[in-house]
Amino acid sequence: MAHNSRLNTVYLLLGSNEGNRLDWFDKAMTLLSADGCRLVEQSAVYETAAWGKEDQPDFLNMALCIATTRPPLALLELTQSIEAQLGRQRTVLWGQRTLDIDILLYNNEVVDTPALRVPHPQLQNRRFALVPLADIAATIVHPTLHKSVAALLADCPDTLPVREYKF
Ligand code: ATP
Ligand code: CA
Ligand code: CA
Repeated sequence: MAHNSRLNTVYLLLGSNEGNRLDWFDKAMTLLSADGCRLVEQSAVYETAAWGKEDQPDFLNMALCIATTRPPLALLELTQSIEAQLGRQRTVLWGQRTLDIDILLYNNEVVDTPALRVPHPQLQNRRFALVPLADIAATIVHPTLHKSVAALLADCPDTLPVREYKF
């Protein structure tokens, strides 16, 4: 697909459960902007008990809408380089991390490669992703499940409480 230099609308999920969690989010937004990604909207910040691997500190999550000229894989390169710059150590699967950046949605597109799958394959199964995303994208329709983000949230089988984090 040709992307050229047109602006693409992308929803990202930031997650952190190590160190000064809000600080990683601020730094990630600064680095995204420095690359030329325009920050269009941001959700509230939410706190959730760790999912999948539960013996670790609680996570903060927030969703961002950005406008970027980067094609999907080039955006993944950027988000991975930001994770690396902010000191993420890749050790245990689903383990503790300073900052995780997942690409949830990229325009209305479907990407299915070994390095990148969009929409994020777990989106519909995770309240900690759907709750912040619904703040800023409730009416966006998932390109393969054909349901809005609000409907995915209403139908989500996940029961982990996701509470707004006041700061
Ligand atoms: P999960 O993807 O289940 O949330 P995780 O975020 O802990 O798990 P990572 O270790 O951050 O997993 O990423 C593993 C790999 O997932 C990355 O190296 C990347 O290539 C790949 N990946 C596939 N689809 C995506 C996506 N939509 N966003 C970010 N990474 C993705
Ligand atoms: Ca993740
Ligand atoms: Ca990730």
